[in-house]
Amino acid sequence: MKIGVLASQGAFAEHISTLQQLDAEAVPVRLPGELRGVDGLIIPGGESTSISRLMSSYNLMDEITSMARSGIPLFGTCAGMILMARDISANGTESLGLINIRVRRNAFGRQIDSFETELAIPVLGKKPFPAVFIRAPIIERCDSGVDILARLTDSTIVAARQGKLLVTAFHPELTDDLRLHRYFLDIVSGKS
Ligand code: GLN
Repeated sequence: MKIGVLASQGAFAEHISTLQQLDAEAVPVRLPGELRGVDGLIIPGGESTSISRLMSSYNLMDEITSMARSGIPLFGTCAGMILMARDISANGTESLGLINIRVRRNAFGRQIDSFETELAIPVLGKKPFPAVFIRAPIIERCDSGVDILARLTDSTIVAARQGKLLVTAFHPELTDDLRLHRYFLDIVSGKS
């Protein structure tokens, strides 16, 4: 199984090493040609405006959109989730518009720049997931076809899935819990 990790900017190295720990072949993607032959793609966290600009300059937007439309699974974390969202609240950033959610950037404000919490994610089993949020977005609204995978205790939605599209507002690649990446690989292999 070959998984591409968009490597324009942000936390791509950590995703690559997590995938390698799960024995998946992980390739950094900066140019459209590098998407050839990948079975799935991860869009990492970072700065969504910069990633969006770089994706446009390197002609990756159309390529990734048609990949997703043809059924190749995508996993977006933090900024990656923002870029996969259909709508971004009050923002001019260009997204891929793939998953039927509306997100709000930097939703936790300046006081709570980053935090870690034990998050219940029922599809991963009983054990909570150590979720690291860094200047994180939230999912303000989910529309048809979207399953909510996790909420904070105040019921804010922070992980969702629509078919083969998976998004989290937090950074699973910054912990040593491999379950979310394994869940994504199960989507890619058709097991989930
Ligand atoms: N605040 C960033 C943005 O809006 C996302 C932060 C992250 O990916 N950790 O793009």
